[in-house]
Amino acid sequence: MKKQKYNANQIYGLMHTDIEGIDALIELALNIRWSWNHASDELWQQLDPELWEFTQNPWVILQTISRNRLEEHLADPAFREKLDGLLKANEQANSTPTWFQKKHPKTPLTTIAYFSMEYMLNEALPIYAGGLGNVAGDQLKSASDLGVPVVAVGLLYAKGYFRQEIDKYGTQNALFPYNDPGQLPITPLRLPNGEWLRIKVSLPGHPIWLRAWQVQVGRSKLYLLDSNDAANLPIHRGITDELYGGGPELRIKQEIILGIGGYRLLKALDIMPEVCHMNEGHAAFLVLERANNFMKANGTSFEEALTVTRAGNLFTTHTAVAAGFDHFSHESMEYHLGTYAKEQLGINFHDLMALGRTDANNRSESFNMAYLAIRGSGGVNGVSRLHGEVSRTLFNNLFPRWPVEEVPISHVTNGVHMPCWDSKYADEIWTESCGKDRWRGELDDHSAHISKLSDEQLWQFRTKSRNRLVGFIRQRFERQAIVSGLPSEVVGIANQVFDPDTLTLGFARRFVPYKRPDLLLQDPERFVRILTHPEHPVQLVLAGKAPPFDESGKALIRKWVQFIQEHNLYKHVLFLSDYDIMLAESLVQGVDVWLNTPRRPWEASGTSGMKVLVNGGLNLSVLDGWWAEAYSPEVGWALGDGQEHGDDPAWDAHEAAELYEILEQQVVPEFYARNKKGVSESWVERMRKSMAILTPRFSANRTVREYTEDYYLPGAINYKKCAARKGAKGKRIVSAGHDLKNKWDTIQFGRVEIESERQKHHFKVVIWLKGIDPKHIQVELFAEGLNGEASERIKMTFDWLGEDGAHNFYAQANTSRPSDHYTVRIVPSYEGISVPLEDNLILWQY
Ligand SMILES: *Cc1c(COP(=O)(O)O)cnc(C)c1O
Repeated sequence: MKKQKYNANQIYGLMHTDIEGIDALIELALNIRWSWNHASDELWQQLDPELWEFTQNPWVILQTISRNRLEEHLADPAFREKLDGLLKANEQANSTPTWFQKKHPKTPLTTIAYFSMEYMLNEALPIYAGGLGNVAGDQLKSASDLGVPVVAVGLLYAKGYFRQEIDKYGTQNALFPYNDPGQLPITPLRLPNGEWLRIKVSLPGHPIWLRAWQVQVGRSKLYLLDSNDAANLPIHRGITDELYGGGPELRIKQEIILGIGGYRLLKALDIMPEVCHMNEGHAAFLVLERANNFMKANGTSFEEALTVTRAGNLFTTHTAVAAGFDHFSHESMEYHLGTYAKEQLGINFHDLMALGRTDANNRSESFNMAYLAIRGSGGVNGVSRLHGEVSRTLFNNLFPRWPVEEVPISHVTNGVHMPCWDSKYADEIWTESCGKDRWRGELDDHSAHISKLSDEQLWQFRTKSRNRLVGFIRQRFERQAIVSGLPSEVVGIANQVFDPDTLTLGFARRFVPYKRPDLLLQDPERFVRILTHPEHPVQLVLAGKAPPFDESGKALIRKWVQFIQEHNLYKHVLFLSDYDIMLAESLVQGVDVWLNTPRRPWEASGTSGMKVLVNGGLNLSVLDGWWAEAYSPEVGWALGDGQEHGDDPAWDAHEAAELYEILEQQVVPEFYARNKKGVSESWVERMRKSMAILTPRFSANRTVREYTEDYYLPGAINYKKCAARKGAKGKRIVSAGHDLKNKWDTIQFGRVEIESERQKHHFKVVIWLKGIDPKHIQVELFAEGLNGEASERIKMTFDWLGEDGAHNFYAQANTSRPSDHYTVRIVPSYEGISVPLEDNLILWQY
């Protein structure tokens, strides 16, 4: 890669671009690798300790600092040496062969374009709300580590998601501080001739201009679009102000910008991804624009272009309830995209709507973005094993008459970017046992190394980590107590709250009813007894935002704040305001036990619990999301019976009682059972197992490798095949599909003859195919699985053609099951088609 040179014209709002050596600092500050490789922290701290502490944003420091101070530091040989060392290390990191280069040297996959509504990368770039952004950010960082060629696309929000303040009564207030783009670690995206790249998208009444920005994330790039361009109508300039703000009318505009504008941005940069990955349905309009591009370039129809390009699209769904998918009304779709459908895609509006409906002709059915994403993808996945199952049920309606287990949605379980979430103490201990590059390659051999760490070492690691957290909590609470106007007695004890040797629990997440953040308050007296036990006390730190207009979520926060006040529990329980990435980091690095209490199966994956793994924290959670597949008795604690109980209050009470009991009978006694050296041996053993077994499995490194090998590589190959020779194969697929569909309803089943022997049945079936090429279908025997096992499918072979034109198929089933367990069915099976994802026809014999 050519070394990038910066000058005043390129850099937004930077004063001192002519000082010798500044280039190096700029390069470091603008690559947010500093958010997971803390090697440069010391430099920024030297330049401005106070700004560094409050902002953690090197770019703000470079913008704020005086010329003298900068010159002074850059003239200091020790500072320069450190700086040069860091640059060299970065260059080396960029040039070392990566996992992807080594493992997949000869692949047609050159680029994956990743689309997401939000990215959680660092506090300095607040364009995220929570879990979804976390997944996007962590995977982007891991892609950089592994060398997987991802370019990411998103939106730059002037205000992002709301910031939380909690008043002394426990009421959440939403604040929207403005993100000055000049102070964010981003640069305007300029073309080689210096022109600031602007993308045009049509909205009714006026074209809208989108400004393009660039974020360097290690080796990867993230491109952002915003609508605050001076050339836009005032009504359009604020479209990208807030993340998840406003109503559906604003949302559809944002999603048009993300999907259609985002794809155009890639085109303007000559980036031609083989694979486009949609992180949730928000980006699904890219399906249309990608097909639009192919169609124009190759002179195909829209349908052919969609068939070709969908082979290279991947959709990841993150929602566990049907109400969670974005959908837009017929009127809104017509207003915003009616002209686009007609003039750009060359299809009528009805055909566009059909892509987002279960019933194309139902005018009252809104347009579902997840349906578009599924119909426009060659692969679909959920984000945990359980969520894969849940998603197959949720989308069964798109595959009528198909058994739910065959709904073509599998799963890739989320993971987190370990180098981001590990504390400096964790970094030390992992480096000692597994080496510096442990998160870059395949992670399988870690458990042996971690097992070698001594009990004392692990316990000390835990103690130091908790200690640091207590210091952080005290500082943060003092500030918060003063700002929210708590009585001076409370402010006065801020430096005594919490205790460095007390078992520390953490709970932080969105405050919404399904997460049941108040489960521990079902029996307040019992919980107070647990907290204030004279010999074996417990402390709990909480954080989380309620959606700004969700009164039930806000009430849950108030409930906790009032509980703390009423029982004067400040020394044992605190609610810290404004849950964000910085706060999350401190919590997951310090707590002993991370709690999670969702109603199964509504937590699609959850990621916060994965962040404690690398730091030696343990999980106590409902068997939902990732924990349903991670849990075993040796690594943590499980709540519930692994079944679904809806929102039954009696079940909530039952699970609360179980939670108290686990704390009283297991967690607390185990933590305080100390040997002569003051170490809890069983606790340490659990830590060791959790770290060794779970950290590699729930690392974003594993997630990204799985996406790469299971989806990106095959997707790229399929797409290339379909796209070759101006989409020749895509055209054949469309024509075979039409032919089949037209004749499908005329297929007739004749007799089924069965001859049974011991452990064996011979099936013969006669079918009138009415002109359908037998090569375009598959006839199979199907039997439902017994006792939760997978169903059986046995392919029947075309045996002979009768004089009357009847096709005779035959199969033998070697089984002890009775023959009437088997049903004959016909499914499509023509060139390169993925059934039932791309063609959902099916015909049953009965
Ligand atoms: C990790 C994280 C989340 C997502 O965690 P869940 O377990 O999905 O609730 C949300 N917000 C922040 C700030 C995080 O760090």
